[in-house]
Amino acid sequence: MAEELTRAGLNVVAIDRGPWIDTSTHTPPDVDPDELRWGHRKELLAPPRDNTVSFRNRADQVAAPLRDYGIFELGAGVGWAGFHWVGIAWRFSPWAFEICSKMIERYGLARAEDGELQLQDWGVTYAELEPFYDRFERIAGVSGKAGNIAGEIQNSGDPFEGPRSRDYPTPPLKTLRMMEIFNEATSRMGLHPFTIPAANLSQPYVDPLGVSVGACTYCGFCLGYGCGNYSKSSPQACVFPALMRRPNFSVVTKACVTRVNMIRTSPMWTPTRLPPCVRRWRTRIVSRATPCKA
Ligand SMILES: Cc1cc2nc3c(=O)[nH]c(=O)nc-3n(C[C@H](O)[C@H](O)[C@H](O)COP(=O)(O)OP(=O)(O)OC[C@H]3O[C@@H](n4cnc5c(N)ncnc54)[C@H](O)[C@@H]3O)c2cc1C
Ligand code: SF4
Repeated sequence: MAEELTRAGLNVVAIDRGPWIDTSTHTPPDVDPDELRWGHRKELLAPPRDNTVSFRNRADQVAAPLRDYGIFELGAGVGWAGFHWVGIAWRFSPWAFEICSKMIERYGLARAEDGELQLQDWGVTYAELEPFYDRFERIAGVSGKAGNIAGEIQNSGDPFEGPRSRDYPTPPLKTLRMMEIFNEATSRMGLHPFTIPAANLSQPYVDPLGVSVGACTYCGFCLGYGCGNYSKSSPQACVFPALMRRPNFSVVTKACVTRVNMIRTSPMWTPTRLPPCVRRWRTRIVSRATPCKA
């Protein structure tokens, strides 16, 4: 979002409660596959004590805080989940955006009326979002093969996906032996196996922002790790090198937004209240970003 807004000429100050994290400083090739640090100690994640998620099954229960990560693997720095994610780069299907209408269309109103169908349409359709999916895939350099271009089903790729305006920017990742076995078996069953779209790039690529991304080495240290090879798409790998050079962008790190004040006379939401203990980071990190602006 900061990239879009600064490119449109707006001044943007990004505020993040986490520290600055970057490939070259945190996960260079010799540090990235550190299983103890990233896999076991989960040092790229926000400790549960800092981001307590409470949970209950019923409204009459007391919500107890989670003491371990569980399913909520929140990130701990700028770029957040986009840095330690895996890189599987699906689009939602057209059906998902209109799930309530489509379910009623197919199965009738009966179950919807008795309150069992707790679904809503998104209010935006797949067709409306398609150009933005396409833009994301271009910036992330997603590797894959289209299954449906402008309504025309292709020979390979996902035949059930929504129509896309064009193919992926880079070809699919390699087919490994176990994938070949799976593909052969499922093809014999009349199914349509295909290699999933991945933001782990099959070949070197330069994205529309002019940022170069490397080819994946299939090291396997994606989930919970960075990518020392600059092959897994992330804000760090694909956007920050362009964004950090823009004079109308700066970032404030280790600053937790606790409140957003609305100014009635302005459509803008300004400014945020930061705990005094983190204010000193503002000066420090902004001045660190300053040389990039020159
Ligand atoms: C382990 C893991 C693997 C995943 N793998 C995949 C995958 O393969 N494919 C896929 O499609 N998705 C995957 N996801 C999900 C995907 O990564 C996230 O949905 C996506 O990155 C969210 O991006 P975001 O920018 O919306 O939010 P986030 O990445 O959550 O970023 C939110 C930012 O806001 C900051 N912030 C939050 N609260 C405050 C506050 N009060 N004050 C200041 N700053 C604040 C945070 O520090 C953070 O930087 C995965 C997620 C995880 C955790
Ligand atoms: S080189 Fe490939 S497999 Fe290894 S972390 Fe990067 S994207 Fe993942």
